[in-house]
Amino acid sequence: MAKYNVLFVLGGPGAGKGTQCDYIVRDYDFVHLSAGDLLREERQRPGSQYGEEIEGHIRSGTIVPVQITCSLLQRAMENSGRKNFLIDGFPRNKDNLEGWNKAMEEVADVKRVLFFDCDEKVCVDRCLNRGKTSGRSDDNEESLKKRIHTYNTSTMPIIEHYRKLNLVSELHAEQTPDEVFGDVKKVLDDLTL
Ligand code: UDP
Ligand code: MG
Repeated sequence: MAKYNVLFVLGGPGAGKGTQCDYIVRDYDFVHLSAGDLLREERQRPGSQYGEEIEGHIRSGTIVPVQITCSLLQRAMENSGRKNFLIDGFPRNKDNLEGWNKAMEEVADVKRVLFFDCDEKVCVDRCLNRGKTSGRSDDNEESLKKRIHTYNTSTMPIIEHYRKLNLVSELHAEQTPDEVFGDVKKVLDDLTL
């Protein structure tokens, strides 16, 4: 069987990953899988043995063990019956990267990493704004500080890892959503899957 094609979508909290993934799915043949959304869903699932553990990590901006996240991703990929995936908000640290490589190396090809680079203050303002309506337990000042710390210390090294492999496309994420998408399209139109 042919391997899955995967684009990882990374960037700070509030950088616009989810918004851009919605645009991409509208215009291209990709399935959007948000690791954070899958974890929030699993947290809500009655009978889930991971609910409390997931909520603890989300509130404190730390990272859920890869076995949990990766199996949710893997299941969603299999169930979709599709081939091309945007994986949004993963891998976020070394544990995520190693767990992914171990579980997925044989079944998925990481074709590119879309890195939404956005000023920290802009990110915080966007999340606090979103927090007014998102109902997310982590869109508040205290959780945000921790999320940004985790992003800078744990996720940036993952982006650097992929940069060395020449897989990173960097997007200027402070522009308007339409402007950012203009840049995203240039990257996607150059991809051969
Ligand atoms: N999270 C995680 N592993 C992942 C993705 C998310 O542990 O692979 C947790 C982590 O605690 C993170 C939270 O879920 O802070 C919210 O992630 P999400 O991607 O939804 O936030 P975003 O970066 O899009 O604002
Ligand atoms: Mg998101």
